[in-house]
Amino acid sequence: MQEASQLKVYKFGGASVKDAAAIRNLSRIVREYGAGTPLLIVVSAMGKTTNALEELYQLAHTGQDFGSQLAALRTFHLEVAAALEVADEHTADPHAPTLAALLEQLGDRLATLTPGDYDKQYDQIVSFGELLATLIVARALHARWLDCRPLIRTDRTWREGRIDWPTTERALTAEVLPLLAQGPIVTQGFVGGTASGQTTTLGREGSDYTAAILAYCLGAESVTIWKDVAGLLNADPKFFPDTVRYPEISYQETIEMAYYGASVIHPKTIKPLAVRRIPLLVKSFLDPSAEGTRIHDCRHGLLVPAFIRKDGQCLVSFESKDLTFISEENLEVIFGALAQVRLKINLMQNSAISFSVCTDFSAYRLEKLLAVLREQFTIHYNTGLELYTIKNYDAPSIQRLTEGRELLLEQRSRQTFQFVCRGSRNKAAK
Ligand code: ASP
Ligand code: MG
Repeated sequence: MQEASQLKVYKFGGASVKDAAAIRNLSRIVREYGAGTPLLIVVSAMGKTTNALEELYQLAHTGQDFGSQLAALRTFHLEVAAALEVADEHTADPHAPTLAALLEQLGDRLATLTPGDYDKQYDQIVSFGELLATLIVARALHARWLDCRPLIRTDRTWREGRIDWPTTERALTAEVLPLLAQGPIVTQGFVGGTASGQTTTLGREGSDYTAAILAYCLGAESVTIWKDVAGLLNADPKFFPDTVRYPEISYQETIEMAYYGASVIHPKTIKPLAVRRIPLLVKSFLDPSAEGTRIHDCRHGLLVPAFIRKDGQCLVSFESKDLTFISEENLEVIFGALAQVRLKINLMQNSAISFSVCTDFSAYRLEKLLAVLREQFTIHYNTGLELYTIKNYDAPSIQRLTEGRELLLEQRSRQTFQFVCRGSRNKAAK
């Protein structure tokens, strides 16, 4: 029997399963690179399905007609399944639901939303993307479909479930380890479940994190994230023309880049892997034989500067109404309110009577924040901003990025230079 320590975890994101051709490519990669070793495959929702589900939920939640959007989502999934010629009857796992049943369940859920906890209901709806995608991929691969929601245990922090590690490790070891010798398993990224069986999600783009949770709990030999880029690059090629790939990089460096917003890896992914020293390989699903990047326990000299761009930012400034200084007491109130409404600080700065934070923009959370703090502070905010971070900066890299931009806030530490500026939408950075 194969040892669990030989286990490889593969994670395929939305772009790698965006249509039937992409799923055929995934099957080729699994056949060529994943043969002969236990394999656990984590799959995200297909293409832009999560965004489509968010829109559907928004329509249903506000009492608007969602029929045509639901029909489009249904047709899209059924057509991909049909193109892959996977009939629902020919299933590798007789206990898996059918695509039709899942789609029907989604429709029922949307039709019977009750006014209630917005974030909780969001999770019950938006999680369908991963359930549908994994069903299609499992069938295309003739692999076992695994519902990970009863195994990945979280608390009730909707939309950002916090993992109950001991329970999750126990469940995965008991339920999944014995199955690994029987052929590849396909399971969902991004989702988990509470003790009472309700679905949670782990935060947008959270499927990478799922791969790390599974690898950690099952003692995997490695995790491979298959992406549409050549590996971990020093910048997003969509915005920077001349990118450089890091052939290898430490967990530490990667964690910081992910934290600042490098979208290639979800920030929570690295820690569980670093703790158990499981290497993370980032490889291209378009060029699977290319080397990619190995993120592991390594030492390296100074890396080329990394440029990280985070859009959809909002700069909020708080001023005390009575011209008192921004004190520890005031900060405590502001931090408390930010935590309460779950707005995360990406950057902050204070002056004598004002305190500014840069956060991801969420109209809903910002409104809640204003309601809590309006009495005590005068609050100004700007939206549609971008936060740029240069990690391992030097003078030319700062010059290159800041030239021609009006900086609303800037900050530098020994290794990191950051600034907030107005959004430049389609303007690629020079
Ligand atoms: N499908 C989810 C999202 O788009 C999770 C993921 O892609 O990792 O956010
Ligand atoms: Mg996705």
